[in-house]
Amino acid sequence: RSWAESSIPQIILDVIEKIGYKEPSPIQRQAIPIGLQNRDIIGIAETGSGKTAAFVIPMLTFISKLPPFTDDNRHLGPYALILAPTRELAQQIEAETRKFAGPLGFRCVSIVGGRAMEEQQFNLREGAEIIIATPGRLKDVIERHVIVLSQCRYIVMDEADRMVHLGFEADLLFILDKLPSGALEGEETNWQEDAMDVDGEDGSAKNKGRTRVTTLFSATMPPAVERLARKYLKRPATITI
Ligand code: AMP
Repeated sequence: RSWAESSIPQIILDVIEKIGYKEPSPIQRQAIPIGLQNRDIIGIAETGSGKTAAFVIPMLTFISKLPPFTDDNRHLGPYALILAPTRELAQQIEAETRKFAGPLGFRCVSIVGGRAMEEQQFNLREGAEIIIATPGRLKDVIERHVIVLSQCRYIVMDEADRMVHLGFEADLLFILDKLPSGALEGEETNWQEDAMDVDGEDGSAKNKGRTRVTTLFSATMPPAVERLARKYLKRPATITI
């Protein structure tokens, strides 16, 4: 199956062609159509599988339907947040995300430890639709009121198991509790029951008006990651590569 057979918007297909990705990788083939329905996703996948593009393409499709940033809304914070366990991974994700986001006119800022707070603060003031962050530093900048997340609608937790192993569970809970609620009216969080429902008969219609999409990628599913998924994901589809 080719890119063109998916429901990726034409402007993003043009970017993919320019980047030179000839065809989608297996995880992209599975995750992108579900992501484009605004469904929450649990992706069990390893690094190197092309998972960054698998979550970035639906994320950019989602935020490109939101009002463009202006002087009236840029100070309300990013539209999308990608959380990663380490500075190195955050920087890799940023580089991959920029390939797609740049041509579409979206700005990315990474908020990671080991870099000057002032520099990140400056980049944030300019306004960034997309933030890529490590949990510890992001919690820090939230507490210092350097950033607000009041209009953040799309959350990706990458390598969730590594974030938990590095001791970031409490920071993740802190951050995720700061986000606007993504719950649909009257909706229950019962992800296990629906976990296999990847075809999503109900998919598009029910998810059309979603105010928040949360996706979680992990190589393994230890109890702490399961707890995160159960608390913050709604009727997720599970994808295993
Ligand atoms: P990731 O697993 O997201 O870290 O991606 C691993 C590498 O594969 C990155 O260097 C990407 O630039 C590259 N890549 C991702 N998707 C594709 C694709 N569909 N075709 C060719 N290369 C890709």
